[in-house]
Amino acid sequence: MIMRVKIARASGFCMGVRRAVNIVLSASNKKNGKLFTFGPLIHNPQVLSLLKEKGIEIIDDPLKIPKKGRVVIRAHGVPPDVKEIIHRQGAQIIDATCPKVAKVHAIIKKEAERGRFIVIIGDPNHPEVKGLMGSAGKNVLAVDSFEKLSLIPTNEPITVVAQTTQNEEFFNQIQNEIKRKFSEVSVFNTICDSTHKRQREVKNLAKGVDAIVIVGGKNSANTRRLVEVAKETGVNAYHIESEKEIKEERLKNLSIVGVTAGASTPNWVISQVVEKLEKIKGRESSFFIWIKRFRNFLVKSNIFIAGAAGMLTFVSCFLQGFLFRLPFFFIAFGYIFSMHLINRLTDIDAIKFNDPARREFYERYGKVLIIFSLIVIVMILFFARFYLSFNPFLFLFAAVVIGLGYNFPFIPSSWVKKIGFSKIKEIPGSKTLFTAIGWGAIITFIPYLHYGGDFSIKQLSTFIVMFLVAFIRTATFDMRDIQGDLIVGKETFPIVLGEKRSKLLITMTILFLSIFLFLLSASSFIFPVHAIFFLAPIGYLALLVFASFSNPFWYTYSLEFFIDIAFYLMGFIALFLMF
Ligand code: SF4
Repeated sequence: MIMRVKIARASGFCMGVRRAVNIVLSASNKKNGKLFTFGPLIHNPQVLSLLKEKGIEIIDDPLKIPKKGRVVIRAHGVPPDVKEIIHRQGAQIIDATCPKVAKVHAIIKKEAERGRFIVIIGDPNHPEVKGLMGSAGKNVLAVDSFEKLSLIPTNEPITVVAQTTQNEEFFNQIQNEIKRKFSEVSVFNTICDSTHKRQREVKNLAKGVDAIVIVGGKNSANTRRLVEVAKETGVNAYHIESEKEIKEERLKNLSIVGVTAGASTPNWVISQVVEKLEKIKGRESSFFIWIKRFRNFLVKSNIFIAGAAGMLTFVSCFLQGFLFRLPFFFIAFGYIFSMHLINRLTDIDAIKFNDPARREFYERYGKVLIIFSLIVIVMILFFARFYLSFNPFLFLFAAVVIGLGYNFPFIPSSWVKKIGFSKIKEIPGSKTLFTAIGWGAIITFIPYLHYGGDFSIKQLSTFIVMFLVAFIRTATFDMRDIQGDLIVGKETFPIVLGEKRSKLLITMTILFLSIFLFLLSASSFIFPVHAIFFLAPIGYLALLVFASFSNPFWYTYSLEFFIDIAFYLMGFIALFLMF
């Protein structure tokens, strides 16, 4: 018997915190001046110790900032006069104030200039509220209790705003009371929708679980509010900072436990908590969990992704008009399996943050997996040599050398300083691009080289289709892995381009792929007309990709599994059309 774990969709970093963490990590990867954060970046001990390890210092006094230092203003923002002092100190300001907090500053400034008295419903000691008060000038009051309402001057027009993480019910009660007591009141509900959403979700989650575990810093205001909201529903709520604080005896023998996390909790901490919870003995039937574990094993071990690449060889043969042969499948399967595995094993530091469970798996079976990958490489070379003609063997051999060389330094050390990298892996954005090229080349050219003939527009178009589907897949996972990649200083596509532009690029790629496939098959000029059916799995892929944009916290291997299903569907359609 096991315990089921249900995770709230809006768990982990909110937009503002994610943006601030990304800004700090990007700045720390550029070594041009000592880096500080003005106050702790977020209220999360794991993230703070990580930043410390990276040499980023916390500074609280603007007058102590050294000249030429770089100072990151955290998501909470600061009063305008603090920015002014930092500027005068000669330091560079990197402003990571959350755009939503910046908007509240703008409202307050405008309203104060109109001569209105500003009431901020929030904790006067919270850094965000302190910053907001700085934008208001003198006529301002932070209100965190009904008693404080007596301090509001009765003869002035009043503007009410909220601390962005304020409890919705408290805000409504206070603003109603202000409206009742004073005549000229305008109210701006500036509570962030991320906070609304989290609090609403906790209430809903509480209805279907036996207990809720809330993950986040003990001094994180929004995490503590989530605990309050959960407790108000009557469900047992436990506030923990990491998986080490889970008390097994309290949760043992429950059926379902809910998990949510504050806006400053990184995904890898949530993943570790969920991993540990799933191991606790519960009251649920274990059948579905075994299926889920089997699915996770297929994804973690790279067997599922390799199968997806294998299935695309059916599509490749169909588009190029070749007779399918089983070695094509095995070669694509083996190549993608071994290359992904070897590259991931050499990239274990980033996996620690992007996917702690996968790291545990690799650490446990790493040696066996490496040996297995090497055996697989030998086997596919054997297949290519003895079951196909000589050219695919040569091509595969070159692809294996390039794939293995991806992680090895090949640039002479005297050049490294000039060009900035020693391995292909270190070229910014190379992972996304090289992975897509690797998929496209193996899936398209192994069948083509086996059958020979003139290289035509058909081969090029098939390569483009395979390249694009692999690009969409890799770029989507790179988006998900931004946090871990930034921590270890990797420069993937989304890190080079930024999140917004990467989302746009992925969206445009999906659009281009759909139009390209439609035109080339509908005209039946290059692809067979039935290739139009592939648009259905591509549409399914697009839906998943867009869903992952709006919910960056897809726990475990669901996203990977469901995205790869799109390639299996394409393969089955091709199989059906061919036979
Ligand atoms: S909770 Fe909302 S306002 Fe606060 S940092 Fe996050 S996104 Fe910005």
